[in-house]
Amino acid sequence: MYYNENTIIYFNGQFVKAAEAKIDLYSQSLHYGYAVFEGIRSYAVVDGTKIFKAKEHYDRLRYSAELMKMPFHYTTDHMIELSYEVLKQNNFTDAYLRPIVLCSPNMSLSKGKECYLSIEAWEWTNGYLANKMRLMTSTYRRPNPAGFHMDAKVSGHYVNSILACQEAKDAGFDEALLLDNDGFVAEGPGANIFYEKDGILYTPAKGNILPGITRATVLELCDELNIQIEEKLFTVEEMKKADTAFYCGTAAEVVELSSLDEYDFPMNWEESNSALIQKAYKAKVLEQPFQLKKKVA
Ligand code: PMP
Repeated sequence: MYYNENTIIYFNGQFVKAAEAKIDLYSQSLHYGYAVFEGIRSYAVVDGTKIFKAKEHYDRLRYSAELMKMPFHYTTDHMIELSYEVLKQNNFTDAYLRPIVLCSPNMSLSKGKECYLSIEAWEWTNGYLANKMRLMTSTYRRPNPAGFHMDAKVSGHYVNSILACQEAKDAGFDEALLLDNDGFVAEGPGANIFYEKDGILYTPAKGNILPGITRATVLELCDELNIQIEEKLFTVEEMKKADTAFYCGTAAEVVELSSLDEYDFPMNWEESNSALIQKAYKAKVLEQPFQLKKKVA
């Protein structure tokens, strides 16, 4: 479902068929989760195809590789150029791009000796999440930031995401909410969280989370729309007094949360500042005009 026999990817210096590209079974990335990646969206806009915040994503990919001490030398501009070429060769407009930096064969527990870039893409029109999501507070905590670089997007971190997401699904929920090591609300398995109370938005402060590019966009939109926003640590109990809440991420975009455990967020979404953010986000990625008007708090 991600590719067929005609799909083209960028792979270590060349454009090749996805079905023919191979990674080495002795890759350090496969054995230890020692790879860094990005999740990026492209959208059909009025004058063609636009990769949303491409620079921010590729800067983060380089930053992640640097923190992992990988010998990775692509520039952001070069990767952006390659990404547009992948879209063009596959004739994609609305798509999801998945660049990943993989390491060469090396069974030792020291830094990568060589690494290579792959850029995969597939067509994508809808978010990966439902329209409204019922969350479950996970029994799994986010990895301890004393043990991992939580602001890097590293493959190995996602084992934690899979455990939490599957636990929530097995319990009949749509998605998990993970706490940090100290028991404060952190983030979803693949998205950042915001809640709204009396018109003000709150989101976990940086430190124990992947500070998303969408989260940064939401903060920019709050500024543009004059919506008050506070970054702070808060508990699940505090969230259970919220009027409404949302998850945000490149794939998820801005998605309403309908409940957290047994607590139903009471506010009519359409009347919330969060809904305004959701609409403004959509307009921004599609490069469409958005009526900037302040919602009464
Ligand atoms: N947290 C985690 C754990 C994620 O995987 C993602 C998705 N990359 C996010 C937050 C949101 O990040 P972004 O907005 O940059 O996609």
